[in-house]
Amino acid sequence: MSIQTIDPTTNTTVRSFEEMTDTAVDAAVAQAAKAFDHWRTTTYQQQADLLHKVAALMREKKASLARLITLEMGKLISQGEGEIILSADIIDYYATNGAQFLADTPLNPEYGKAFIRYSPIGVLLGVEPWNFPFYQVARLAAPNIMVGNTVLIKHASIVPQCAIAIEDLFKEAGTPAGVYTNLLISGKRASALASDERIKGVSLTGSEAAGASLASEAGKYLKKSVLELGGDDAFIVLEDADIDKAVDWAVVGRINNNGECCIASKRFIAVETVADEFLEKFKDKLSKLKVGDPMDRTTELGPMSSEAAAVDLADQVKRSVDAGAKVLLGGKRVECPGAFMEPTILTDLKPGIAVFDEELFGPVASFYRVKDEQEAIDLANDSPFGLGDSVFTQDIEKGMWVADQIDTGMVFINHPTWTQADLPFGGTKRSGYGRELSELGIHEFVNKKLIRISELSDPL
Ligand code: NAP
Repeated sequence: MSIQTIDPTTNTTVRSFEEMTDTAVDAAVAQAAKAFDHWRTTTYQQQADLLHKVAALMREKKASLARLITLEMGKLISQGEGEIILSADIIDYYATNGAQFLADTPLNPEYGKAFIRYSPIGVLLGVEPWNFPFYQVARLAAPNIMVGNTVLIKHASIVPQCAIAIEDLFKEAGTPAGVYTNLLISGKRASALASDERIKGVSLTGSEAAGASLASEAGKYLKKSVLELGGDDAFIVLEDADIDKAVDWAVVGRINNNGECCIASKRFIAVETVADEFLEKFKDKLSKLKVGDPMDRTTELGPMSSEAAAVDLADQVKRSVDAGAKVLLGGKRVECPGAFMEPTILTDLKPGIAVFDEELFGPVASFYRVKDEQEAIDLANDSPFGLGDSVFTQDIEKGMWVADQIDTGMVFINHPTWTQADLPFGGTKRSGYGRELSELGIHEFVNKKLIRISELSDPL
């Protein structure tokens, strides 16, 4: 059975789920299509009222929902509670601002009057990852339910109880059947759904392979896709940075969510005048982290999301060391049951070594020493990914100069890459395309219809 809750803290199987049959999936798509006929005609006020109810229920159930996240993918309990609040904030944000974002945009054509009207396009399929089981869903579902689209969510197979809990929240809030539906199916069945003529657009957050599979199927049927894929975020430390603060943020940037964030800081790049001080302090802080049970509020680093993820990361470290990388800290699995990996720093990296070329998804940092700012920028851009980078400097002008030359979807000055409801999120290069969150996120799956009004005249 591929859909299971396996507690990564102990690697014990807690619950298994039967996948939906093809007939059940077909019925769910039919219901979403039928629901669209009605949902598209409801008012923004009705849509906003529903979303506010979902957000309120989420806040009310914060403690139990956060425990579910921790059980299924090992997030620290306090961070799980933070994720629930962030998700509710996103839902409230679209409920509060959606009508304004979707108001007609007047145009100024040379002749006549014209404007853009935004209208929903139909049923959407969202394929979501396990690393932020509520937040990732909120980013897609809230703006699109506000627009008047209906949403099918295929969630990651290792977080089925979170997926069901989200659907239950929508039901409890009084969502009409078919407006929000959880599809309990495995990833290998998801891409084929893009060919269904009732599904009008697809969105995937996850790996490059899954993104390419879903988007190519959607492309074959001429449907729009949005992809939020991997990242290899650089964390650049310039000569004039406040090193102690940079180190504090470097630790947060690397181990937030047990290191399993697409926007985690993964490549630490320091100019040589401050490299030794930064590295020594960074190593010291990482080495003192309390690793253990994510339900214990004193724990600072929990397990990875699954045994398979921990095995893959340990293997990536081993391949890198075999190819010449040096281990400055950690480098091994923690000796205990569960999917734990030691906080790790690797140095002496160059092209051809696994961690130079691949995304690191877990508590492993790669460190690079560079001559100057230009070398830092060149190294940051030497990546197949382009999600978010950060630069630490006390000179904001210089930070802006660096930001201008970085080829990513997001650049943060004096903070690791981060997220909130009103900031757009998305990448360049192999990190995907399209944007979620902010006003940009609500305009991805709408028909931006031109309406032109002319004075009635004789044809020329
Ligand atoms: P993954 O294997 O791609 O899984 C993500 C989702 O895609 C899951 O629901 C999965 O279902 C599904 N899936 C797998 N194969 C598929 C296929 N061939 N067609 C359609 N759907 C398929 O990703 P992961 O390795 O678990 O997650 C980590 C990756 O996601 C990292 O690269 C990370 O950077 C990226 N990520 C990006 C963002 C962002 O916003 N840019 C956010 C979070 C994570 P199953 O679970 O059933 O296999």
